[in-house]
Amino acid sequence: AKNQGGNRYACYRPTDSQSALQAFQIEKALRQALDQNELQLFLQSQCDQHGVLAGAEALVRWQHPEQGLISPALFIPVAERSDLIIALDNWVLARAGELLANWRSRGLNYTLSVNISPRHVRHASFVEDVKAVLARYQFAPAALVLEVTEGILVDDLQASIDKMLQLTALGISFAIDDFGTGYSSLSYIRNLPVQELKIDQSFIKGIPDQANDIAMVETIIAVARQLNLRVVAEGVETAAQALFCQQQGLWSQGYHIDKPLPVSKWQARWLDRVTA
Ligand code: C2E
Ligand code: CA
Ligand code: CA
Ligand code: CA
Repeated sequence: AKNQGGNRYACYRPTDSQSALQAFQIEKALRQALDQNELQLFLQSQCDQHGVLAGAEALVRWQHPEQGLISPALFIPVAERSDLIIALDNWVLARAGELLANWRSRGLNYTLSVNISPRHVRHASFVEDVKAVLARYQFAPAALVLEVTEGILVDDLQASIDKMLQLTALGISFAIDDFGTGYSSLSYIRNLPVQELKIDQSFIKGIPDQANDIAMVETIIAVARQLNLRVVAEGVETAAQALFCQQQGLWSQGYHIDKPLPVSKWQARWLDRVTA
C-alpha cells in the first residue's frame, strides 16, 4: 500500500529484539536507498524578523518504492547507529552546495541550513567533508548554516570546538538546533563558536498563552542578545506566534509560513515568482 492517507509515517521504537531486527533491515534498505537515489531533499522557509524570506532548512525524506514517503524521524536515528549517517549527511551537504551555487548564479543570497549529526561532527572526516563541498560547488560560505545539537557536547567537546572554528574561519555558520531541550547549563554556549540558536518547537507551542514558555523564550532571547546570536523560532504554527516572533526580533520557521516542500516546489513558490 503506497503511503495511505497521504501523510502517514511508520513509527519505530527501539524497545525489543524485534525492533533491533527492524532497525537492521531499515539500515540495509537505507544504504540501498542512498545508492539508488531514493532520498529527496525538502526545504522549509525561514523568515526574518520582518517576515521576509531569509533562507531555508534542508530536510531529508526517503521516497520508498513501496512504502511511500518515510519520515527522517524514523530513519535518521537508525542511520545514526553507524557511519551510514555520515554518507547521508554528505549526500544532503552536496545537494545543499549544488543549490547554493545555483542560487548564487541567480544573484540570490538566501541562507541554507543543513542538519549535521553529532556522530558526523565527531568523525575524522567532518571538516574535510564540508571543505570538499565548498571547493566543489563554490557557493558563498556565509550562506551555509550547519545545525548541530547539544549532542556534540558529550565526549570530546574541545575537539568539536576546534573543528567548528576551522569552518567558521571560512565564513560558514553554526546553529544550535532544538535549543533548550538538552540538560546542559546555558553557560556552555559561551564557549561554542555558534552564530545562531534555534529555539525548540516545544517552547513555541505555548506561545502566547503559557507564561512558562514565554519566560523560557525571553530568557533564551536575552542570552542570545548578550552573545550577539541570531535566534530562530521553530514550529511557528499560528499568526499569534508569528507576531510574537516579529515583535521579539526573531526569525521564524514553521507551518504558519509553509510545510517542508520538495526543492522544485519550494523554488517555484518562493523564488521563481521573483526571479523569472
Ligand atoms: P529538526 O531539525 O528539529 O527539524 C524540524 C522538524 O520539525 C522537521 O521534521 C519539520 O518538518 C518539523 N516542523 C517544521 N515546522 C513545524 C511546525 O510548524 N509544527 C510542527 N509540529 N513541526 C514542524 P522532519 O522533517 O520530520 O525532521 C525530523 C528530524 O529529522 C529533524 O528535526 C532532524 O533532527 C532530522 N533530520 C531531518 N533531515 C535531516 C538531515 O538531512 N540530516 C540529519 N542528520 N538529520 C535530519
Ligand atoms: Ca534542524
Ligand atoms: Ca529543531
Ligand atoms: Ca528535532
